[in-house]
Amino acid sequence: MSLRVKDLWASALSVIRSRVTDQQFETWFRGLTCSETEQGGVLLTAPNRFSSSWLANHYLDMIETCLSEAAGRPLSVTIGATDERAAPAEIPRSRLAKFPPATRPERGVPLNKLYVFDSFVVGPCNALAHAATIAVAESPGRTYNPLFVHSGVGMGKTHLLQACCHQIRANHPDQNILYLSCESFVNEFIAAVERGELETFRYNYRYVDVLVIDDIHFLANKERTQEEFFHTFNTLYHSQKQIILSSDSPPKEIPSLKERLVTRFKWGLVARLESPEMETRISIVRMKAQLLKRSIPNDVVEFIADRVTSNIRELEGAVVRILGIATLTNRPVSVELAAETLEEAEFAAPRIGISDIQAAVAERFGLKVADLQGKRRHKSVAFPRQICMYLAKELTSLSLVEIGGHFGGRDHTTVLYGVDKIRKLLELDPSLLEIVRQLRDRIVTG
Ligand code: ADP
Ligand code: MG
Repeated sequence: MSLRVKDLWASALSVIRSRVTDQQFETWFRGLTCSETEQGGVLLTAPNRFSSSWLANHYLDMIETCLSEAAGRPLSVTIGATDERAAPAEIPRSRLAKFPPATRPERGVPLNKLYVFDSFVVGPCNALAHAATIAVAESPGRTYNPLFVHSGVGMGKTHLLQACCHQIRANHPDQNILYLSCESFVNEFIAAVERGELETFRYNYRYVDVLVIDDIHFLANKERTQEEFFHTFNTLYHSQKQIILSSDSPPKEIPSLKERLVTRFKWGLVARLESPEMETRISIVRMKAQLLKRSIPNDVVEFIADRVTSNIRELEGAVVRILGIATLTNRPVSVELAAETLEEAEFAAPRIGISDIQAAVAERFGLKVADLQGKRRHKSVAFPRQICMYLAKELTSLSLVEIGGHFGGRDHTTVLYGVDKIRKLLELDPSLLEIVRQLRDRIVTG
C-alpha cells in the first residue's frame, strides 16, 4: 500500500470519526483496509460482503467527500470485501486477455456525416459549448473532463457531440471513440446482466479513449445502471480518458440522479446551449439553404428567422418545407410563400412538445419540471403529473409508452391510469375543468 493513500485514509478516518457515533465507527469503519486502485482511485476493503454493501449504501458519499477533502482533489472510492472475488470497478487484467483491443470491431452508433463543425453555426447562444468542444477535440482527456452539454430539445447537442467525434477522429486517428445514446447504454447493460456477460460489457466501456453518451438524462430513475455508469466513469476519468455527455437538463435536475454522479458531472465543464438569437437564426437559415444547394432571398431568410424561434430543428424543418413547396408548386421563394407554408404547417400540426406541457403545468402548480419527472408520489406532485399526462395524450401524438418515458420512465399502465382519472374528474369537477382549459390555451398558443 502506498504511504500516500494510507495517510489520506488516516486523515479521512479522523474526520469520519467525528461525524458518526462511536458504535457506528467501531461497527463499520474500524475493520476497513485501504489501498490504491490501478485507476488511481481508492479501494476500501471490508471484512465481509454485508459490511461492504452497507457501507456502499449508507456511507459512500461521506467517505468519498472526506477522502477527496483530505487529498485536495476528487477521488473515487470503491468498496469491496475480502470474501468477494473483485470489487465492481476492478477487472483483473488477466481476465481481459481474451478481448485484445486490436481486434475489437468499431462499435456504437455510426456518426452522421453532416454533423460536423463546419456546418455548426456559432453565436452567443452556443459559443461556450462550441469552444469547449473544440478544445476537447484537440486534446481529449486533457482539458474539460467530463464535458457536459445541456439544452432543450433541438438546440444542437447531438450535432455538437458528433462534430467532436469527427474532429477527434481526424486529429487523433489512433484514439478509440465510442459514441452512443444513453438508451443504448441502458439496454446493453440490462442485456449483459441477463446474459451474465457483465465483464465483457465493462471491458467494452472502460477501455475506450473517448466515451460520448448522448442524452444522459435517460439515466433518470435507473438506479442499477447509474451504479454501473458510476464505475465506468471513475475508471475512464482516472485514466484521463475523455468523457462527453449531453442532457436535457443540468446535472442536478436529472430526476433522482445519485449525488455522486451529479458531483462528477460537474467536475469538468457544464455548458448550456441557449435559444439562438435572431442573428444566429439568420445564419442557420442561410447555412441550411447552402447545404441544400439552394438560395433564399434575404427578406425571406429574415422572415423565417423571425417566425420560427422555438428551436433549431424547427427552423431547419421550416427551411426544408418552404424550399420543398417552392419546388413542387414551381413558385419563387418569397415571403408570401413562406408565410403560407408556415401557417399551413402550424394549422396542420400544432407541434406541441411535452416540455411545453410540463413547463406550463409546473408553473401553474408552483413545481419544478424535475418534480413532475421525478419519483415522488405525494399528491401535491402526483396530481399535476397526471394532468400533464392527460394533456400530453390530448395534445400530442405521443404513445402512452413515450409519455411514460418523459415522466421518469413510468410504464404505460401508470400513464393510462392517470389519463383516465383526469378524464373522469373533468366531468365531475368544473373548477378542474377550468384549470385544464386555461392550461391547454396557454400551451396551444405558446
Ligand atoms: P438536440 O440533440 O439538442 O436535440 P440536434 O443536435 O439534433 O439537437 O439539432 C437539431 C437540428 O438542428 C440538427 O439537424 C442540427 O444539425 C441543427 N442544428 C442545431 N444547432 C445548430 C447550429 N448551431 N448550426 C447549425 N445547425 C444546427
Ligand atoms: Mg439529440
